[in-house]
Amino acid sequence: QDDEVIMPAVTFVATANAAAYLKAIPHFADSTEENFGIDVERLSKHLSAIALRQNDQVINRQTGRRIAAVVCMHTFGHPVDLDPLVELCKAYDLPLIEDAAEALGSTYKGRHVGNHGLMSAFSFNGNKITTTGGGGMLVTNDAELAARARHLSSTAKTPHRWEFYHDETGYNYRMPNLNAALGCAQLERLDDMLAAKRALAAHYIETLSGIDGIDILAAPGYGESNYWLNALVLKPENASLRDPLLGALNDNTFASRPLWNPMHLLPMYQDCPRMDLSVAESLFHRTINLPSSARLGRNISG
Ligand SMILES: *Cc1c(COP(=O)(O)O)cnc(C)c1O
Repeated sequence: QDDEVIMPAVTFVATANAAAYLKAIPHFADSTEENFGIDVERLSKHLSAIALRQNDQVINRQTGRRIAAVVCMHTFGHPVDLDPLVELCKAYDLPLIEDAAEALGSTYKGRHVGNHGLMSAFSFNGNKITTTGGGGMLVTNDAELAARARHLSSTAKTPHRWEFYHDETGYNYRMPNLNAALGCAQLERLDDMLAAKRALAAHYIETLSGIDGIDILAAPGYGESNYWLNALVLKPENASLRDPLLGALNDNTFASRPLWNPMHLLPMYQDCPRMDLSVAESLFHRTINLPSSARLGRNISG
């Protein structure tokens, strides 16, 4: 009830909603220009300014509330720099949750993302790299947490041959069999999808990166991206070109989109605690997501 959850302001709204559903309060962190993920160095400075160790807890001295967890998000499939983030979380004894919804198939130093914190979430929503129509997957290396998630996702029904007995308020969050069957078939195609996504990204990078005034977001050196979405980032002095460019692209059948509004600009999250979010706001004003369907990548690679 009185918990804060640190998460990037640059994310899809579902990240913040997940905390809000549990009556926790999002606490927004800024992003890096390099991969749009949480800026660990500046988060570390922010925490040392506001965090108070009390008993076994981390208290935000500005709000008096407990800081309960840190959530990172691998934006467009680009892995965040996990090692320093894991280290920072360890220093404060804060559990790390990866919102890996966009990042199935992405790796950090050779290891799949979603494997570096206490728990991770992947999405199989219709727009993601692998879909089951809807739904997703929780991942953890903690057997007790896995059992607890299974229990809660099946209405907290205790196992019995015929009795209907539920020992707490659970949820009907199991994946239906039909969706799971679709997911199994989709998984067989994951390598092809990744290859097509990466071919398309390589094409965008090759053809657009020479152009003055724009950058194309590429995977950081320490990891591989699934390139779920490609992003064109205007130089700050060109930010006013975002809307005309979006208009021209969409007029010419290139379905392009701006970045999500950063969370602190949404009405329900505008009063949440946060660190300086100037990078998040700047990225919002100059990012354009380009058409990123795997089909386009297949056409390029033949
Ligand atoms: C898609 C997405 C989600 C939500 O996943 P659903 O399966 O649609 O609930 C959460 N976080 C991020 C960053 C996403 O991109």
